[in-house]
Amino acid sequence: MRSLWQWFFPRLFVNDLWEINLEELKGLGIRGLIVDLDNTLVAWNAYDLEERVLQWVEEAKSQGFAICIVSNALKERVTYFSKLLAIPGISKAQKPRRGAFRAALQELGLSQSEVAVIGDQVFTDVLGGNRLGLYTILVRPISRREFVTTRLGRIVERWILRRFNPHD
Ligand SMILES: [Mg+2]
Repeated sequence: MRSLWQWFFPRLFVNDLWEINLEELKGLGIRGLIVDLDNTLVAWNAYDLEERVLQWVEEAKSQGFAICIVSNALKERVTYFSKLLAIPGISKAQKPRRGAFRAALQELGLSQSEVAVIGDQVFTDVLGGNRLGLYTILVRPISRREFVTTRLGRIVERWILRRFNPHD
């Protein structure tokens, strides 16, 4: 059973972006970040990006990280934030499928061992990242508002996270 469930376990589970130790990631050889959009950088379906999120992205950039948004959202929405943050973005990603993650690696010009995925969902961000062998970081969702299907996924997510032990 464990071998199946490990596909759903993130390498790291944090409350928010600021809990991610960027220095530590660099120490692991990570130089690029694939970041989810909805409920990771901004509340689901909202357009008001918090100033401190903008600052977080700027800080990561200044530390040398290449960043790319990978989102299942539509192009218009992803382009808006991609321009705002001045980072590339891939829309309609169909996570957990691997295609968009591969495209992001190309965009970043990095290999899979050099990139971490940051996202709020086990079934899209974590599963997709793990399938490609990327370092996966699960963050708590910014808002409780989301698709009904996502909410159903959360029930299973909680079950998985109760069993998550990073030192296992
Ligand atoms: Mg999300």
